[in-house]
Amino acid sequence: MIEKTLIILKPCTLQRGLIGEIIQRFERKGLKLAGLKMVQLDDVILSEHYAHLSNKPFFQRVKDSMMASPVVICCLEGVEAVQTVRALVGVTNGRLANPGTIRGDYSMSFQENIIHAADSVETANDEIKRFFKSEEIFDYKQVTFDYLYANDEFK
Ligand code: ADP
Repeated sequence: MIEKTLIILKPCTLQRGLIGEIIQRFERKGLKLAGLKMVQLDDVILSEHYAHLSNKPFFQRVKDSMMASPVVICCLEGVEAVQTVRALVGVTNGRLANPGTIRGDYSMSFQENIIHAADSVETANDEIKRFFKSEEIFDYKQVTFDYLYANDEFK
């Protein structure tokens, strides 16, 4: 199934000059860039986005970290894109994330872990609606598509 997913390149990534390098990993994998924007997040949208962490002692600290500078948000598309992107990202704690994953290769931290990625198809759809207007998501032909997949892989 062709899916869309959402990633947020966190303030630590912008400040460390890694935005291009991280986006390149997804391009190289074959994921299609369907949306891309730079945004300053605020407490209201982050309280919604991180509602599942609202009982945690680090809730406010995580939100503050996400507001420390603008972030870059992308919508990526591909066959089983949600699961594939999560695998490329690695586990939450950058110190424990496998080498070869984005967090494993670029992060030493639980919190400052480079990137957010939606964790299910349902969450991805909610997050795309939260962060993008419908006209900011582009439906164009990925010319490499026939060379990225066998023709029975996306039905
Ligand atoms: P993930 O981003 O891997 O989906 P969560 O949704 O559980 O993980 O957490 C959201 C973000 O909150 C993490 O990416 C990380 O920045 C921060 N976070 C989660 N757990 C911790 C923790 N125990 N200590 C510090 N920061 C944390």
